[in-house]
Amino acid sequence: MKTTVVWFHNDLRLADNPALYYAVQRGAVVPVFIFAPEEQAERAPGEARKWWLHHSLLSLQQSLRERGAELVIRRTPQSLPVLEQLLVETGADALYWNTRYEPQLWTRDEAITRALRKRGIEVRQFPSYLLHDPDEVRTDSGQPYTVFTPFWKRMLSVVRVPEPLPAPERICVPTNLPASDPLERLELLPKIDWAGGFRETWRPGEPNAHARLQWFLQNAVDDYSEQRDRPDLDATSRLSPHLHHGEITPRQIWHATLRHSRGKWTKGIEHFLREVGWREFGYHILYHHPYTQSQPLRSEFNSFPWSDVETPAFKAWCKGRTGIPMVDAGMRQLWRIGWLHNRVRMIVASWLTKNLLIHWRLGEAWFWDTLVDADPASNVLGWQWTAGCGADAAPYYRIFNPVIQGRKFDPNGDYVREWVPELANLPTEYIHAPWEAPQSVLQQAGVELGKTYPHPQAKLNESRDRALEMFERWGKKR
Ligand SMILES: Cc1cc2nc3c(=O)[nH]c(=O)nc-3n(C[C@H](O)[C@H](O)[C@H](O)COP(=O)(O)OP(=O)(O)OC[C@H]3O[C@@H](n4cnc5c(N)ncnc54)[C@H](O)[C@@H]3O)c2cc1C
Repeated sequence: MKTTVVWFHNDLRLADNPALYYAVQRGAVVPVFIFAPEEQAERAPGEARKWWLHHSLLSLQQSLRERGAELVIRRTPQSLPVLEQLLVETGADALYWNTRYEPQLWTRDEAITRALRKRGIEVRQFPSYLLHDPDEVRTDSGQPYTVFTPFWKRMLSVVRVPEPLPAPERICVPTNLPASDPLERLELLPKIDWAGGFRETWRPGEPNAHARLQWFLQNAVDDYSEQRDRPDLDATSRLSPHLHHGEITPRQIWHATLRHSRGKWTKGIEHFLREVGWREFGYHILYHHPYTQSQPLRSEFNSFPWSDVETPAFKAWCKGRTGIPMVDAGMRQLWRIGWLHNRVRMIVASWLTKNLLIHWRLGEAWFWDTLVDADPASNVLGWQWTAGCGADAAPYYRIFNPVIQGRKFDPNGDYVREWVPELANLPTEYIHAPWEAPQSVLQQAGVELGKTYPHPQAKLNESRDRALEMFERWGKKR
C-alpha cells in the first residue's frame, strides 16, 4: 500500500480537505502538524491565535482518532528535516498539503518541493483556502484588481465554486507511524491564564464551526443586511477564527448558504456572501502585492508622517482607556474575547490612525497579537482601508466620529454598557459622550471623569481638524 504524508497547516479539518481526501484514496496516511513559528518570522501566530490553535489541534486529534488515525505533532525551527525524517521512517513516497497564501511560506514551500522531488517524492498542493485562484481572476488587461466591486463581479462571473469534498470515513495509517510529541510541547497556551473570556466565548474546532454556521443561517442571515453593523446584537456569523484556521472552508459556507436559501440570492444571502468576498479580495491583494504586509498599497503614503512610537496615547488605546466609550468598548472586547465587531474595528482603527495620528502598523501589530482571527490578508486590508492608504480605501478625509457611530449603531448603549461597566448607569443620551453630561447626571450614575473613567485623550473636533490639516500639508509637499 502507498503511504502519503499529509501536512496540516491552516486547514484543521477533515471535510473538504483535498490533501487528506486524495491521500486517503492513495492508501495509508501520516497526518502531521509541524509548529515552526521561526519560519513565519513576524507573521508567526500571536498569543490569541495560539490559544485557538491549541484547541483546534485538540479537536483535529479527536476527529482523526475517531477515524482510526493519529496526528503526529512536531515542534521544530525548520520543517524540511522533520518531513524528510517522517518520509523515511514511514516509507511514504508522497507529501500532500493544501495551498498556503502567506508570502513568508512561499520560498520555504518551494524549497521543500524542490528538495523532495529530487529524491523522487511526489509533492502535491491543493487549493481550498479560497474560492478563487488569484492568478485566474484578473482585469481585461490581465492586471490584478485593486477595487473590490469589479473584483467581486469578475469573480462571480468566472469562478464556479466546486461542491465540497466529504470527510473520509476511515483513515489507514502505516503500521510504523511514529509517536507524536505531546500537544503541550508546542506551548501554545498562555503561562498566566488570561484566557477566561476566550473559553466562555469560543468553541474552536471543525464540528463547532459547522454548528455556528447552522446557527447563523437559521437565526441571523435573513436580517444580516440590516443588522450586521450593530455590535450590540449577535447578528454576524463570527466564523472568522474558524475560517482563518481552516476548520471550515469558504466553499462549504458558500454551498451551505445557498442550500439554505434554496439558491435564492436574497438581500441577506447576497450581503453575507459579498462579505466572504472581501476575504477573497484581501488574499487577492496579498498574493499580488506581498509587500503590503508592512508597506501601504498606495506607496505615496510611505511618506505620511504617522507616529510610529508607542506613546502613552497608544498604550491607553490598547488598554481601552481612551475616554471615548465606543473605542474603549471595542478595545476591551478585543482584550477579553480576542475578537471585535467589524464596525468597531473600523471605529478604533480610525481613532488611532486619524485622531491620534499613530501609524496603522502599530495598530495592525496589536490586532495581530490579540485577535483569535488575526489574518495576514484581512488585517492588513482592514487597517490600510481605514487609514486610507490601501485597496479601495476610505479616503483619508473620511474620519469616523465615534460618538455619531455609537449613537447610530449602538442606539441603546448596550454594547458600551457591556464592555465599559463603569458607564453602565449613564442615561443613553450621554453614554457615547459622557463629557457632555451635566455634573448632576454624572454624579447620579457614579461617574467621575478623570477618576472612575478617563477624560477623552483627544477632543473630537480638534483632533479631526489636526488630522485633516496634516493630510493637506502632506499632500502639498509630496
Ligand atoms: C482594522 C480591521 C482589521 C481587521 N482584521 C481582520 C483579521 O485579522 N481577520 C479577519 O478575519 N478579519 C479582519 N477584519 C475584517 C472583519 O472585521 C472580520 O472579518 C469580521 O468582523 C469577522 O466577523 P464575522 O465572522 O462575524 O463576519 P461576518 O460579517 O459574518 O462575515 C463573514 C466572513 O466574511 C469575511 N469578512 C467579513 N468582513 C470582512 C472584511 N471587511 N474584510 C475581510 N473579510 C471579511 C470574514 O471571513 C467573515 O468571517 C478586519 C477589519 C478591520 C476594519
